[in-house]
Amino acid sequence: MSSRIGSTEYADRMAGARQRMEEVGIDCLALTAGADLFYLTGYKAMPLERITMLIVGAYGEPTLVVPALEAPRVQVLDGLFRVHPWNDGEDMVGVLACALRKASPPNPTIALSEQTGAGVLLALADRMRHTRFVGANRVMRELRMRKSAAELDLLRDAAAAVDAVVADYKAMRWAGRTEREIADEIGVALRGAGHETVNFVIVASGPNAASPHHDPGLRRVEVGDTIVVDVGGTKNGYCSDVTRCVAVGEPAPGVVKAYASLRRAQEAAVAAVCPGARASDIDAVARGHLTDDGYGGYFVHRTGHGIGLDAHEEPYIVAGNTETLESGMCFSVEPGIYVPGEFGLRLEDIVAVTPDGVTSLNTAPHDIVVADPTA
Ligand code: ZN
Ligand code: ZN
Repeated sequence: MSSRIGSTEYADRMAGARQRMEEVGIDCLALTAGADLFYLTGYKAMPLERITMLIVGAYGEPTLVVPALEAPRVQVLDGLFRVHPWNDGEDMVGVLACALRKASPPNPTIALSEQTGAGVLLALADRMRHTRFVGANRVMRELRMRKSAAELDLLRDAAAAVDAVVADYKAMRWAGRTEREIADEIGVALRGAGHETVNFVIVASGPNAASPHHDPGLRRVEVGDTIVVDVGGTKNGYCSDVTRCVAVGEPAPGVVKAYASLRRAQEAAVAAVCPGARASDIDAVARGHLTDDGYGGYFVHRTGHGIGLDAHEEPYIVAGNTETLESGMCFSVEPGIYVPGEFGLRLEDIVAVTPDGVTSLNTAPHDIVVADPTA
């Protein structure tokens, strides 16, 4: 997959990482396969036992240490970094330790990707006794949390793709099919809408919807069911994520009443998003509305999560997170009501903080989608 982000933006990202390293006292940044590495290089490394590592240090130019057999996949934008292939049979940890030492002053602090396997970290720590290893998040989170105009365009495009899939829910056949069959059909539709990968398809019907992350199974959808449908994929590197509820025939009065409350809570939480608000404030607004209506005890998760190159990233919209929201931050607002043994409901949009408020990237209608029970 080629990146839709321009080479100037990559140069800015690298400069931003270097500046942040200086601010927080990091001598060397060591990124292994994952979104941080992709963010700085546009290269999507395979998360394998053969390690790929981008090293941005005090000395020398940024270097991508990469398994030789994967080197042909690496595209270097405008000399942003150099490529150092290593061969099978070489001492991998020795190669990495040597490259890290070359890029670092004595007794360095090295910021290593959190996703790096503990085995690799332990082996490196053993070879590099006078090194302090810390998490790369302290360098990368500040950069990745604030989306550029180009990133916002890509997130909006991913949201439009998933909304196009939602638009087809009404015409789909639901009654009599298993959750898994329906999930498979939606997965194909996500790819058809331009996602290169399907990250998850939750189809949780009837009482199964009371479990927020239900794994679609062999239950057949019945007339009268309400179904939580939460889907997301990756399009041009950026993630989509949307939840709507489908009812097969008119939903029961208890479901209608709960959904009306959920909708008000979600709307109020979105409306509370603006620069200067705290992440925890948004969670409190959604939770407050549901608590006032008697559903507080059934809202069992945080209100949202940031989204970008990862489906879940910072900022997390959760009690206790006092992070101040800023223009360019992008996250889900997705309160839910889960009544064990009975039903579940969730409503989710991705929103972006603007200079003077908020904009929703998802534009699919918020009503329960009522599907034809005879289809
Ligand atoms: Zn979701
Ligand atoms: Zn979500």
